[in-house]
Amino acid sequence: MTVITIGIDLGTTFSCVATIDEHGKPIVLKNEDGNSITPSVVAFERAGNVIVGDEAKNIQSLGDANVASFFKREMGNPDFYLTFYGKQYSPTDLSAYILAKLKADAEKVLGKAITKAVITCPAYFNAMQREEVKKAGKLAGLDVLRVINEPTAAAVAFGIKSEKEQTLLVYDLGGGTFDVTLMKITADEIAVLATDGNHQLGGKDWDDTLREYAVDKFQEEFAENPLEDSATANDLLVAAENTKKTLSQKTTTNFVIAYNGNKGRYEITREQFEDATKHLINQTLTLCESVLAAKQMDWKNIDGVLLVGGSTRMPQVESELKKHTDNLLHGINVDEAVAIGAAIQADLDANEKHYTLETKQSSSKSGYTLEGRRTIRDVTGQSLGMIAENADRSKYINTIIIPRNTNIPSCEVRPFQLRTSSRQDNEIEVYVTQGEGLLPSGCVILGKYVISGITHEKGKAVCDIAYHYDKSGTVEVSAKQRSTDKNLTVRKDNPGDMSWTDLCPKDRDPEPELEHVTVLLTVDTSGSMCGDPINEAIKAAHRFVNEIDLTHCSVGLMMVADRVLMLCYPTQNSKEIGRAIDTLNRPSDIPSENIYGAPLNLDAGVGNAAQPFTEARQCFDNIDGIKFMLVLADGVWDNQPYAVQEAKKCHADGIEVAALGFGGADKKFLHDIASCEENAIFTNMNQLGESFSKIAQVITEGKTELQRRN
Ligand code: AMP
Repeated sequence: MTVITIGIDLGTTFSCVATIDEHGKPIVLKNEDGNSITPSVVAFERAGNVIVGDEAKNIQSLGDANVASFFKREMGNPDFYLTFYGKQYSPTDLSAYILAKLKADAEKVLGKAITKAVITCPAYFNAMQREEVKKAGKLAGLDVLRVINEPTAAAVAFGIKSEKEQTLLVYDLGGGTFDVTLMKITADEIAVLATDGNHQLGGKDWDDTLREYAVDKFQEEFAENPLEDSATANDLLVAAENTKKTLSQKTTTNFVIAYNGNKGRYEITREQFEDATKHLINQTLTLCESVLAAKQMDWKNIDGVLLVGGSTRMPQVESELKKHTDNLLHGINVDEAVAIGAAIQADLDANEKHYTLETKQSSSKSGYTLEGRRTIRDVTGQSLGMIAENADRSKYINTIIIPRNTNIPSCEVRPFQLRTSSRQDNEIEVYVTQGEGLLPSGCVILGKYVISGITHEKGKAVCDIAYHYDKSGTVEVSAKQRSTDKNLTVRKDNPGDMSWTDLCPKDRDPEPELEHVTVLLTVDTSGSMCGDPINEAIKAAHRFVNEIDLTHCSVGLMMVADRVLMLCYPTQNSKEIGRAIDTLNRPSDIPSENIYGAPLNLDAGVGNAAQPFTEARQCFDNIDGIKFMLVLADGVWDNQPYAVQEAKKCHADGIEVAALGFGGADKKFLHDIASCEENAIFTNMNQLGESFSKIAQVITEGKTELQRRN
């Protein structure tokens, strides 16, 4: 039996509910007052009554102070409360009132009790904020099937109607935020490929710029600043928004400022407005390009741009986007699309079926019905990481574990090394971060996870920590001890005061628990590696990075052919190394300052003239701790004796060299460059991933010899 579900757009200013009717068609449900949108406003009465929606908005317009609105922006902020008649309400409590009203109104229309719902949130909401959306749903008596991103929901509402396979950018410019989402719609799937955005950029910035423009003119004329008076400043912001909207219709209008008995009237043309705000539109275009670049695409790879959000009504948005694409799509009702997309997802989730899509009416002239089955796939909007010390212990850093734009749900396992003691309980404290910042202060701290129950081991113990992103974008952590394969206890604590992350780790604790390991991966990319071998090497290198403890290790990447190219200096940032690994078969993307030696004719393929050891010694020169160089070779190098001579200098410098060969590699040469017999390994192309994984394991367990001595 089909379960009735609803999709809810829980908006900052208004909310909307939709469902799938008995014919499988998405419909918006009207509220008690007969409106398809409900203001996200809550009013409190002395007697304890709580009024939500249109009536609450009316109460607010009469100037009553016991009314809450715009609280969605504060969702997940533990310090934000509003107090009415002596009682405190969090944004979650207030959102629950809205959701309860939407649920009750939907039940009235449908004549049935409803519990199952999908709720939307802005793409930039972090895991904590998404958790709060779920909590609000629960408080309202809803079983929240999942929380999905607003632009994804809008794109689903559009995509479900789309007959064609297409790759689209969803350009969503609202009042305070900008989101851009790269989507691929196929016969089977509506998939988000990548997402980006700036939640400090929206229509309000255009209003601010317009106000400044007029205020400057007023100051020139009257030598007075009307923004010094806060009431006038507010009035001018409202006037700026109205002027902006007028300029969407007309090419010229007037901005009037009356202040301190002076009155200025300034004509402003659409062209002047567009010139003054060009830097803002350019910021949105840069983000579009960055989301395309995340998938190695540019404007010519997309079929069109779907416009979402009130600010896309500005003609400037269209004219700028038209410079990059011929196809601008308006095909959705901005007020309703998000709820409709959520309703489709709710129906998919609750009824465990693929949505059946009629792309052509059977009664249409073409006379056929085409049915498509589509599932919906989304990605993480922000990276997940943890706090670590950098290699020289001068600062705390954010090491990324699950980079943004990874499909959700997802789970990544990373090893964590530690020294244990037989005299005390052994615990690990993991501070999980969300965001792209290189430093912890640039990220949100999702929680302090205390992993306990670790059994004492001689040498280093290794715990495999799993980071799970569920389908709503919320995060969970679990852990196992590698040697015992035992699940460990994980407790989530409030992270508390995080100001220690601005201090120097060495000052807080002079003795490091573990020595830092620096690994330099060196890949032979000469002509014989072209095609499958380099692709296998890329996969194996990614696997290596995923299986190494980046809180205690740094990884760098070099390629060697006719020249040596430093693709990535040793770093604990998995995103940086990952990007570098992906350039192994695209050397033309590498900045010229990273290239050593004679010019390389990239078009004509590459030979074996260079050797990597001289540059490796330079790279390791100022690095303390354990130094490890892993060389992957598949052919015979032009000057092997010279390479061996330079490799020996590496050994003398304390750099452990491991040589991994396959294909046409010379076994004797591998032995000569390796720092010990155990570190020369001959493998085959299909085993590369496995071999890299074993090496990651050995390094993680604190050893430097890759093979056991017989
Ligand atoms: P949203 O958050 O999607 O409802 O978008 C709200 C933003 O759209 C506000 O900044 C409005 O000023 C802006 N907006 C609405 N209508 C227009 C219009 N006709 N021209 C320019 N901006 C508009």
